[in-house]
Amino acid sequence: MNNDCIFCKIITGVIPAQKIYEDDKVFAFLDINPVNPGHTLVIPKEHFKNIMETPPEILCNLVKVVQKIAPAIVKATDSEGFNVGINTGSSAGQVIFHTHIHVMPRRSDDGRALWKGKEYGEGEIEETAEKIKTAIG
Ligand code: 5GP
Ligand code: ZN
Repeated sequence: MNNDCIFCKIITGVIPAQKIYEDDKVFAFLDINPVNPGHTLVIPKEHFKNIMETPPEILCNLVKVVQKIAPAIVKATDSEGFNVGINTGSSAGQVIFHTHIHVMPRRSDDGRALWKGKEYGEGEIEETAEKIKTAIG
């Protein structure tokens, strides 16, 4: 529990939220500002600031819950599919620094667009792959 963390306060009930699922390790509730109604946040009950700080077995628990509840979210909201997202770091749009997975129900007519891809320059894709492989070690 981190006393400064909004999501820790949601888990303990200090801040109200629409809980849709809970087990001993994982909590899931509706995002207050949804991409579409039913947009859900799946979080570990233990506080970690992002996925890199979260133990792999806890991440597995989160993904298992995503797999369990996503079809129910889609069905209940009369959706057709869903996006899963994890924003990591401010530059990637992370605002709440308690690990969370977004599950966002989608319909083909919902007017929400995905990012458009950009092109690599000459030789850039190979150079990028080499740099990443070197960084992985
Ligand atoms: P991030 O941008 O960090 O990946 O996502 C944080 C999400 O938490 C946002 O989509 C935001 O709408 C949601 N959020 C922030 N504060 C609250 C809150 O007090 N209650 C609920 N239910 N969602 C929140
Ligand atoms: Zn927290």
